[in-house]
Amino acid sequence: MKIAVFVFLILFGSITSSAPLEKVTLQLGWKYQFEFAGFIAAKEKGFYKEAGLDVDLKERRADMDVVDAVLNGHADYGVTDADLSFVKAQNKPIVLLANYFKRSALVFISKQTLLTPHDLAGKKVMITEEQLHSSSLALLLKTFNMKADDFQVIPHSFSANNFIRGDIDAMSAFISNEPYQITQSKTPYNIIDPSAYGIHTYNGNLFTTYSTAEHQKQRAQKLIAASNRGWAYALDHTEEIAELIYKKYSQEKPMDGLLYEAGAIKKLILPDIAEIGSVNRELVQHNFDALKAAELIAPSADLNSFFFDAATASKEPLFSKQELDYIQSLEKISLCVHPQWMPYEKIEHGRHIGISADYFNLLRKMIPTPIRLVRTSSWTQSLEFARQRKCDLLSLVAPTPERKKYWNFTSPYLSSPLVIATRTDELFVADIENVLDKKLGIVKGYAFSELLRNKYPSIGLIEFDTLDEGLDKVAQGELFGFLDSLATIGYALQNHYISELKIAGKFDDKYELGIGIRNDDPKLLTIFEKMINAIPAVERQAIINKWIAVKYEKGTDHGLLWKALAGMVVIGLLLLYRHLVQAKYLKEIAKQNELLLKLSITDKLTQVYNRAKLDDILQEQFDLYRRYRRPFSIIMMDIDHFKSINDNCGHLTGDAVLIGIADILKNHIRHTDIVGRWGGEEFMIICLHNTVERAAILAEKLRAQIKAHHFKHEQQITASFGVAQISDGINIEQLVKQADDALYKAKNAGRNKVITDKR
Ligand code: GH3
Ligand code: MG
Ligand code: MG
Repeated sequence: MKIAVFVFLILFGSITSSAPLEKVTLQLGWKYQFEFAGFIAAKEKGFYKEAGLDVDLKERRADMDVVDAVLNGHADYGVTDADLSFVKAQNKPIVLLANYFKRSALVFISKQTLLTPHDLAGKKVMITEEQLHSSSLALLLKTFNMKADDFQVIPHSFSANNFIRGDIDAMSAFISNEPYQITQSKTPYNIIDPSAYGIHTYNGNLFTTYSTAEHQKQRAQKLIAASNRGWAYALDHTEEIAELIYKKYSQEKPMDGLLYEAGAIKKLILPDIAEIGSVNRELVQHNFDALKAAELIAPSADLNSFFFDAATASKEPLFSKQELDYIQSLEKISLCVHPQWMPYEKIEHGRHIGISADYFNLLRKMIPTPIRLVRTSSWTQSLEFARQRKCDLLSLVAPTPERKKYWNFTSPYLSSPLVIATRTDELFVADIENVLDKKLGIVKGYAFSELLRNKYPSIGLIEFDTLDEGLDKVAQGELFGFLDSLATIGYALQNHYISELKIAGKFDDKYELGIGIRNDDPKLLTIFEKMINAIPAVERQAIINKWIAVKYEKGTDHGLLWKALAGMVVIGLLLLYRHLVQAKYLKEIAKQNELLLKLSITDKLTQVYNRAKLDDILQEQFDLYRRYRRPFSIIMMDIDHFKSINDNCGHLTGDAVLIGIADILKNHIRHTDIVGRWGGEEFMIICLHNTVERAAILAEKLRAQIKAHHFKHEQQITASFGVAQISDGINIEQLVKQADDALYKAKNAGRNKVITDKR
């Protein structure tokens, strides 16, 4: 009912321009001061009023949590200095409407002798618990490997006096606030600013709850536009607005203090570089990824629906009033899924996961009625339940004539080509017509068995309960081949059948998968069709990337598809070789292989990243360095006298040593380091956000570990290391050469050494 009222208001609001002002409350993140000048200006200069809004600007009490105040409905909107990435990572339903400060406003103020985060070790640092764990300062400390117990944490007094008196060595502070008072007192100080270390955060954020954003899109849009206007005005008329704040709002800060603040705020807003209020999604994502890499937020955290989609704000509401009434009249909508069809979907520990599960999580946010999973043990059972109307929906199905007797189908939201898996020694299958006389397997109940039988009546399809069962039969030679989608077969091959089976052909036919909806409920079809189409392309892509694309999360084996595809490259290349004559298909395969090759990133022998992936990461890090001055270092490692191991103990022992060394490297690097095989018996470690000195310490640790390791073949192994850091004026090739030269020096100096490039 609530939604219907909202929709009504939106419609009404947009046609009557002389309507009374709409009252909204905006909870500020602190006291009235220049930090909120844009909002104050928007109110006082009448920008809000022109937008039809009567905005109540609320000051914050010290003990108040601004995010909670908005989530609990005490205010409609909030402006906060809290780091919203952390809030979002806790799955709180917030939406970022506008971002004003493009850099971290939060810094350390330290005694003049304390210049870097490392210098804080053992010192008295005044900081809040929240800042210690969930802020740009937390990320800064983590980047420098500093833990809370590396220094003495002093609870925050929110006053610079402790610092001025010299009771503490450093304190967290707002760059636009405390430095003014400290400068006035003539106390010398230094600022340790996360931005200076390539840490990118976004502060001064206007936000609201998901449901307010979603149901009051136009109102939010008006609020954003008027606030942006207010900020532009305030930055252009700093004295006027500072005076206004002083006279009308608060005299807590003197005029000078407000003007000092205005200067600092301008540097945070960077109006010459960034559009006022704009949200840079790439940077937000970058910050989010950095927090993940630093293990400050959960690896599963996502930014789904965090961004406000202004583009759709002016459009019609998604549902008609009748449709809304209908959805709300339903108590629940029940959903059947395939319990075993990764990466598409799966029921794991009673929960629906996979690509379709992520889609449904988005759909759930669009309607108030819960969509509940009905647990089944097989796909045939799911189909049976759906026929008996025990579930209203099937998450991911292909329409077939037979199925249309029971269900309606939305437009497809996923598509994957049909492929055939055979034993490795079979020939390439160019056309399904060539193998119609052979024994082919397919999973029972799959749409393709019906479609193929209709298309090729002579086809000999044998049905199996699961994909694995069928693939086993292929491996044992009882079946010629098995048919399924590229994504699922690829997934299964890598996990179980890497050496026995291959993908021998890809057909023109495609799996086009949409949502199946009981066909006695046509209203539900219209509603889901609208919802599926309302999912923006970026969200779709993000889901696919999550389950299929390359990710570098070390140590966790998600059974990602890229691994499967990496295996397929080898197969693909074999095929290419074997079928050189079949020119017609070469192009096709080459195209596929190009794609697969891109996805293949793991070194087969050692299971660390391969050279191609290292090259990619180097390029990526180099770009980050150029854009954000984020430093990184590399370590080149070469095993000493490796030829003699091959010569004395054989090539297999050599291989085992390579695997052993890769394991040592993997187990002793930090989570922000990346290891890969550079070639032969050379490895590279890329140390993100790290200086050459710290990389050298790591290299030294690795050197000692390798030397101390007892390999099976009893012979001691050592390795030599060269270390170098990215710096201005060099490119990746030159960086690698610097590390290589250092490595060469290490070899000449007698091996089993670490040499650092000092430039
Ligand atoms: P140095 O201390 O100077 O590095 O001596 P080295 O013997 O290690 O010399 P070099 O780097 O020239 O030799 C590398 C050898 O590594 C040559 C090659 O036979 C061997 N190798 C390269 N890749 C592999 C592999 O995948 N498996 C095995 N077993 N050996 C490999
Ligand atoms: Mg070598
Ligand atoms: Mg060597």
